[in-house]
Amino acid sequence: MRAYMCAGVCMDFTQARQEIERLKAVLWENSRKYYVDNAPTMSDYEYDQLMHALEALEAEYPELATPDSPTRRVGSDLEEDTPREGQGFAKYEHKYPMLSLANTYSIQEVEEFANSASRNLESSFTYSCELKFDGTAICLTYKNGKLFRALTRGDGIMGDDVTENARRIANIPEHLKGTGWPEEFEIRGEVLMPYESFDRLNRERELAEEPLFANPRNAASGSLKLQDPEEVGRRGLFCTLYHIPTGQVDYPTHDAALNAAKSWGLPVSDERRICHNIGEIEDYISYWDKARKQLPFATDGIVIKINEMAFQLQLGYTAKSPRWAVAYKFKAEQACTPILSIDYQVGRTGAVTPVANLETVFLSGTMVKRATLVNEDQIRSLDIHEGDWVYVEKGGEIIPKITAVELSKRQPDAKEPIFPKVCPDCGTPLVKPEGEARWFCPNGTGCPTQIKGRILHFLSRKAMNILAGEATVEQLYNLNLVHSPADLYSLKEYQLLQLEGWKQKSARRFLQSLADSRKVPFERVLFAIGIRYVGETTARDIARHFGSIEAIKTASREDLLEVADVGEVIADSILAFFASPANLLEICRLQEAGLQFEIGASNKQLSNALEGKTIVISGNFSISRDDMKALIEAHGGKNSGSVSGKTSYLLAGTKPGPEKVKKATDLGIEIIDEATLRQMIGSQSETGDGLPGASALLFAEGMPLPGSDATDSMLPPAGELFEPTLF
Ligand code: NAD
Repeated sequence: MRAYMCAGVCMDFTQARQEIERLKAVLWENSRKYYVDNAPTMSDYEYDQLMHALEALEAEYPELATPDSPTRRVGSDLEEDTPREGQGFAKYEHKYPMLSLANTYSIQEVEEFANSASRNLESSFTYSCELKFDGTAICLTYKNGKLFRALTRGDGIMGDDVTENARRIANIPEHLKGTGWPEEFEIRGEVLMPYESFDRLNRERELAEEPLFANPRNAASGSLKLQDPEEVGRRGLFCTLYHIPTGQVDYPTHDAALNAAKSWGLPVSDERRICHNIGEIEDYISYWDKARKQLPFATDGIVIKINEMAFQLQLGYTAKSPRWAVAYKFKAEQACTPILSIDYQVGRTGAVTPVANLETVFLSGTMVKRATLVNEDQIRSLDIHEGDWVYVEKGGEIIPKITAVELSKRQPDAKEPIFPKVCPDCGTPLVKPEGEARWFCPNGTGCPTQIKGRILHFLSRKAMNILAGEATVEQLYNLNLVHSPADLYSLKEYQLLQLEGWKQKSARRFLQSLADSRKVPFERVLFAIGIRYVGETTARDIARHFGSIEAIKTASREDLLEVADVGEVIADSILAFFASPANLLEICRLQEAGLQFEIGASNKQLSNALEGKTIVISGNFSISRDDMKALIEAHGGKNSGSVSGKTSYLLAGTKPGPEKVKKATDLGIEIIDEATLRQMIGSQSETGDGLPGASALLFAEGMPLPGSDATDSMLPPAGELFEPTLF
């Protein structure tokens, strides 16, 4: 009987089969979390170790290796379900499969790769060493010098068509420059989100109580798959290209092909080096292992490729990766440092999060002083004691987390931390609702941290967009001027002049922004009042479904569940919110202050002229694309994101997507322009529909206030706007 040693355990055939099944299930599950949900719960290192264990077992028992094994297929980022109308992307087959890379964390294995290449290739060759960019893969096709299509990697065979989104990425050229590009070719690379944009995005998400992205890779990947190309444009993504599949261009080396691509205006990294031997490769690796920490974007390793195209062809591919390349991956940087104390932070919804204050350590380019301990269960499972030395890692290089305790440094009398039984801010006994891993302070109306958190959320850009930040809210609260969002609307200029650093001009600007907030549409007001679990999108859906706050207040659980994406948790949270007399009183006061508590004219049913029509819009119009969609709905039509047999019209503005136009033409779908649509609905211009003025819509989109000047020195102190504590 054959036996195999796995992690020091001797396995027979049956055990090996069970272990293979277990590893496959764990890997597929985590692959889905990583590629589809963009919310991994396992580190890349752990994932790669499990993958290597599976590879080793399958090598020992080839009869147990099935074609669906994660060792033979690239992880898929394709949505599993059939996309709902207006969602999802058209899918196209890649001309050449988009594969993964064999990876290793060991220099010795890089040496083995180089030795094996030397053995297999007859004449001398070089290596192209490159940064391994930690973003999401993209494949661009250019036809006649013009961007034709952008596909995600998908499952390696089919990718999602994200062309419209790619067009919003500033450094992806629409047209090539220079000469010599082939009539049609594909070039591949990575879409990345720089650290700065990532921090900004997460700060906004934190204020909106939306789940944070764990790292810039997930944020880039999630952003590239957004259904709103304009929002993609706002996310600060950029692209770097590193591969033209062999056989498409006539250059002797990979390096020469990339240099040509660069001369055509394509974004190709300058950090590549041609190396001649393993010594040079190792120098390149050790240089970038340090230098990468100064880069403004994430990298997770070095890619070493055989440079000569002829040798790439000769070596070919496995089912999952090229044989002519290997990725050397950097292990997530770790540091060991003592816990000085543990704070228990209260959020605006009352959730209490333990946060460790650490002796400062330098990690992946930044000073780390604090790390989240997530919740009480996490403290127990890591077995944290007071004063422990702990290992800190930056998950995806950004958010520090504590991964383990260095037991050898534990003091003999070290005690387990005692999770507070009462709110650290207001002293109210904490509660742990059934099914929740977190403790909550139930004193929503009296707990200062929760009150300030709610006001801050109310003011935020995606909510009421009022010009104030944390420090202003702190002062307004401490001076006893504001205890709830409604109090903001009774503020007088002389009261604002009591705030440190405020002069007449800043006070007037603030009052003006408060006045302007009265025009913010109901959808955003509903988001601003801060019902737990009701994020921006859910608020919009609920507002559109019910039309007014009165209808939401009186809605039953069943009524609420009718709204797309409202599940039981959200429905119960809405019911609980409106069952609170304090919340009802606050809403009354906000109504008296003149805020919008009914859906605006743009979303009201104006006619049924477009009833039964499904319309795809493409290009630019005299009003924003969102407003155009609202106009279609207001006249009974339905919007859809992609052209299909069910589409009634393609509404083409200026610069419509060529893909959509082609597909509509192929399917014989009528293409109409804005003037035709307006004739159909009997309107001359946007104002003719009784829509809010353009300034109100711009304002609602979070654009600068009319006449506002962000650099004005009279504004509240710089850096104050929306900078909550992020670790
Ligand atoms: P990969 O990220 O390890 O490497 C391949 C990818 O690197 C290519 O597809 C390409 O997109 C990218 N790349 C960046 N710079 C490049 C360059 N200069 N040249 C060529 N390619 C370059 O492989 P993958 O298949 O995208 O992902 C697999 C990896 O993802 C795993 O090894 C694991 O680390 C991680 N993963 C983690 C989890 C988790 O739960 N943490 C789950 C699934 C996958």
